[in-house]
Amino acid sequence: MDARVAVIGVGSIGSMALWQLARQGIDAIGFERYAPGHDQAAAGGESRIFRTAYLEGPQYVPLLVRARELWRELEQESGQSLLNLNGGLMIGPEDSDSMRNVLVSADRFDLPHEVLDTAEMGRRYPQHRMLPGEIGFFDEWAGVLRPEFAVLTAARRAQALGARVVSGARVTAVEPFDYGVRVHVGDRVYTVEQAVVTAGPWTAHFAPELARHVTPRKLVMTWYPALDVDAYRPERFPIFIRESGEVHIFGIPTLDGGSVKVAPHAPYGDLSDADDLDRNVAEGDLDAINRVVAELMPGLVPTPVRVSAYLEAYTTDGHALVGQLPGAENVWLLGAFSGHGFKMASAFGQVAADLVANGKTSLPIEHLDPARFAR
Ligand SMILES: Cc1cc2nc3c(=O)[nH]c(=O)nc-3n(C[C@H](O)[C@H](O)[C@H](O)COP(=O)(O)OP(=O)(O)OC[C@H]3O[C@@H](n4cnc5c(N)ncnc54)[C@H](O)[C@@H]3O)c2cc1C
Repeated sequence: MDARVAVIGVGSIGSMALWQLARQGIDAIGFERYAPGHDQAAAGGESRIFRTAYLEGPQYVPLLVRARELWRELEQESGQSLLNLNGGLMIGPEDSDSMRNVLVSADRFDLPHEVLDTAEMGRRYPQHRMLPGEIGFFDEWAGVLRPEFAVLTAARRAQALGARVVSGARVTAVEPFDYGVRVHVGDRVYTVEQAVVTAGPWTAHFAPELARHVTPRKLVMTWYPALDVDAYRPERFPIFIRESGEVHIFGIPTLDGGSVKVAPHAPYGDLSDADDLDRNVAEGDLDAINRVVAELMPGLVPTPVRVSAYLEAYTTDGHALVGQLPGAENVWLLGAFSGHGFKMASAFGQVAADLVANGKTSLPIEHLDPARFAR
């Protein structure tokens, strides 16, 4: 055997899996087609939102609480700063499904928060032009993660604890056999006891029987200049998500001291394969987001100064695939995080290590079982 475990893809989830495996003393080797910390897949663009009162459903809260603890542990072990909990605003109508999920999450799990009516929002956060009927929900356990640097930090920490990382290594096949798994990389075949597939946008390559439920998508992020930059620094401008009628956007305070990231909370288009991504963005494709910025964010110049395209795999129900790869006993799949996986990557690293070590985890992942699509 070349190692006990192979991790296929050392990106957001794979780097955290490798760190957790190494922490548990499990001999692991990670294969990455680029290099840890690259920006060619799902983890590019300098910032990712962390939040705990979850509009996607309260079933995620225990994972998010654990993720927060693990981000802090990674910071402590590495001596690096990765997560700035500057707070987060969810903005939308009080009776919307998203706001209901956020309120139920906070209530059920006793999360620190404040509910702000339209007038209070206007006083505290004039950066947002509020619409009638909208409220603000302030999540204290929300903020900004540094994705590329976090991936690099976890991979380095894993290596310091004994894991191996092979960069520039594109895995072409993962082949289970009676006593383990063969991992094909170029003309070399590695043999391991178990494999963890964390290939992100390329998830379908390794799970062809689930492929019709998984779609790689293009996501575009846009940064807008601030008229008064100080009003958009993390201390004054929490991360935000606005789900209101036709408006589905998110935003992150200025990190470069000039521009503010505001982008649609929805993809720009489906791809038949992640390798087909065209990173060019036509000017007309930005009309919708520019209009929303002009209407709702009066302190920003509504023409972006930076535009970048990224990739992410989505499932048909918007929830990731986490568990045994159907039909392959020694292969664990953690992929298709459907636009909201980064914040939980640290917790899913633990899930991966738990599955490898014990075949189960105490974290709630039942709703993510890949078998729901194979059935
Ligand atoms: C623009 C954008 C904004 C987002 N905003 C947020 C946010 O604010 N908060 C949040 O929580 N989530 C957010 N997400 C989602 C989040 O970033 C993703 O869910 C998460 O990064 C997915 O992690 P992953 O490990 O599955 O994929 P990745 O991080 O892409 O990792 C997959 C890795 O596998 C490697 N790989 C693939 N195939 C092979 C192969 N054959 N051989 C070797 N290596 C391979 C890739 O190179 C890559 O490094 C956003 C996503 C995008 C694209």
